[in-house]
Amino acid sequence: MADAPVSVRGMNDLLPPDSGKWQHLERTCRDVFARYGYLEARPPVVEHTELFVRGVGEGSDIVGKEMYTFADRSERSLTLRPELTAGLARAYIEHNMATKEAVTRWWSIGPVFRYEAVNTGRYRQFYQIDCEAYGVGEPTLDAELIGMLHALYTQLGVTPLTILVNNVGKGDDRGRYREALVAYFTPQVDALCADCKRRLQVNPLRILDCKVDGCKAIVARAPSILDYLGDDARAHFATVQATLTALGVPFVVEPRLVRGLDYYTGTVFELTTTAGNLGSQSTIVAGGRYDDMIGELGGPATPAIGFGIGVERTVLCMPGEPASYAPRIDLFIAAMGPAARIKATALAHQLRTAGVTVEVEHREVGFKAQFRRADKLGARLSLALGESELATGAAKLKDMAARTETPVDLADLVAAVTAALGR
Ligand code: ATP
Ligand code: MG
Repeated sequence: MADAPVSVRGMNDLLPPDSGKWQHLERTCRDVFARYGYLEARPPVVEHTELFVRGVGEGSDIVGKEMYTFADRSERSLTLRPELTAGLARAYIEHNMATKEAVTRWWSIGPVFRYEAVNTGRYRQFYQIDCEAYGVGEPTLDAELIGMLHALYTQLGVTPLTILVNNVGKGDDRGRYREALVAYFTPQVDALCADCKRRLQVNPLRILDCKVDGCKAIVARAPSILDYLGDDARAHFATVQATLTALGVPFVVEPRLVRGLDYYTGTVFELTTTAGNLGSQSTIVAGGRYDDMIGELGGPATPAIGFGIGVERTVLCMPGEPASYAPRIDLFIAAMGPAARIKATALAHQLRTAGVTVEVEHREVGFKAQFRRADKLGARLSLALGESELATGAAKLKDMAARTETPVDLADLVAAVTAALGR
């Protein structure tokens, strides 16, 4: 016999009951984002490689070593998106959004692809949920966005939650800080990991984000970006913090937070948690300002800010077993014999039209096995249909938890069931 097929390493199936937990996260995001005016956008999974090289940045780990890049049949270089921001920025530019509205707020969800070392919370296909706001450079928006994440994760019950914020400056501030970092790391280059040796050449800021212990110890004494910020960045950061305080959103200033992507300017932030025991994968959301990207990609100069939620990591730290997120079955109809099964199917059809969630036992098995399944499914009510029920048109509606039975007329079943469900 041929070997059974297996999935690609780092690319997972999402199946029930886990999918119920994902759906809860997605529903909560949709609700929360809507309250803040974010509308959904869905760019394609594949883009021209060039977009990520220019958008995410050549010095980033993503472009350096993580992209799934291939030539299509016309020898175009295409890439499976490694993140959502660049594709959304391309769409914003391509659809001339800046001429249509002064402020654009989009959210998006979908799979992204990175060739990295697989671990808990680190996969090669994973999902991100992004929010991006274009057209506003003012710092109160930064705080609004971070406040929205706080509201979202509070609603999801993820605790404890730490919100780290920093400002990575732009232009000259960044240049001077970069020089200071090179001066600091160069004499210690031998103690850095192989990745950081490379980063020192191409993107020294990225060393601050290294997860290797030896590098972390060196990073702890590195110069702080906050000593290199110009007046504008300093004032911007102060207002972000004052606004977060006004919102009652707790945060921690982390001067070594730089983010791995090249495109950030000014405000950056991360949400981390010890829930879910994710270890070095404890960052569940990351984001920041990228005021230069739209212009650099060839669009009109447009300030922008956004974040990416790591869906798998977030689900791992949401409380409760996946099964606790499963939709509840309102009524289980057990049936004995072909005629009862037809009746059960018809009654269920009617009930579902009235908004009731119903499971019918279609298999030819004994009542005992049928009720075992009703219990396992966690049905709130059950109904048994056999020959005598068909003959009399009357049956008993059972409350599965209370173990009580109420006589019902099958002709009035919809009313009886909705009443029993308290609807
Ligand atoms: P890390 O430092 O953990 O590699 P990152 O800085 O590369 O993360 P971002 O590009 O900012 O991550 O992506 C946003 C979020 O997506 C992260 O905070 C994380 O929750 C999630 N994420 C990133 N890489 C992976 C992955 N390989 N598998 C699962 N989730 C991931
Ligand atoms: Mg990464």
